[in-house]
Amino acid sequence: MQYRVEGIVIRSTDYGEGNKIITLFTRTHGKIGIVVRGAKKIKSRHGSLAQLFTYGEYLFFRNSGLGTLTHGEIIESHHVLREQLELTAYSSYAVELVDRALQEEDASAYIYEQLKACLTAFAEGKDVAITIQLFELKILEAAGYAPDFTACMSCGNTEGRMALSARAGGILCSRCRYKDPGAMELSDGALKLLRLFRQMDLRRLGNITVRDETKKQLKLVMRALMDTHLALQLKSRSFLDQMERYELTEPVRRQPRRDAGEANEANANSKSNESRDARDDARKQDPWDSDTE
Ligand SMILES: [Zn+2]
Repeated sequence: MQYRVEGIVIRSTDYGEGNKIITLFTRTHGKIGIVVRGAKKIKSRHGSLAQLFTYGEYLFFRNSGLGTLTHGEIIESHHVLREQLELTAYSSYAVELVDRALQEEDASAYIYEQLKACLTAFAEGKDVAITIQLFELKILEAAGYAPDFTACMSCGNTEGRMALSARAGGILCSRCRYKDPGAMELSDGALKLLRLFRQMDLRRLGNITVRDETKKQLKLVMRALMDTHLALQLKSRSFLDQMERYELTEPVRRQPRRDAGEANEANANSKSNESRDARDDARKQDPWDSDTE
């Protein structure tokens, strides 16, 4: 049978003499394995269709098992994602998440749109850390582990300081926090963003500026949630970790955005002072908090 699908290449592996097998994540048919004959040959018309992150229209033939590509058109090659180390690392993690974290039935049109928006955001130079954290949230949702940041998981309280309990899949208020010794304190800024992200469609992500401290906290939160609920060993994530450890990301990220970054940072700083004041006030009123500080 002949199929025509729109999809994104989320895996591409060599196969036999000069061929490749790709996994396409499609809007309509979930994940599909397709053999691309001659993809590795220099003159191949299909070579670029088989490259990781390529978004295109694919025509293939399949009876059962793997399909065979007959024709394709590239809609967006996403070459910038393969050329810049930092973008390659983040994009690889995003597609590997779809490949490994999602069962066939979780691979919905909505998640397809989120992946597409995620790769577009990387290509457009949006904040990689924020983009990937939003995408991780979408993956958790799709896999059935959507965290709840609206109210305390134990008593339903919505006010005051909260801590993240990965085990509970949500937040605990200061009265209930003792129920999970592994719970981590959330700043007001981090909680606000988590609540916002939980509702947010990646297609609507603008240029958002977040303080480094908040970003670090969000990363720890997402890491804890991903490890607790999905527990995946991903090569792409080990690479990301290594890259960050050696700060290979710095020169790539800083240079092209210096102007906009400086203006935004001034803005973000004045906001952060406000939230710090608010936090101090909250502390004064909360005996539990002052005991532990
Ligand atoms: Zn509570």
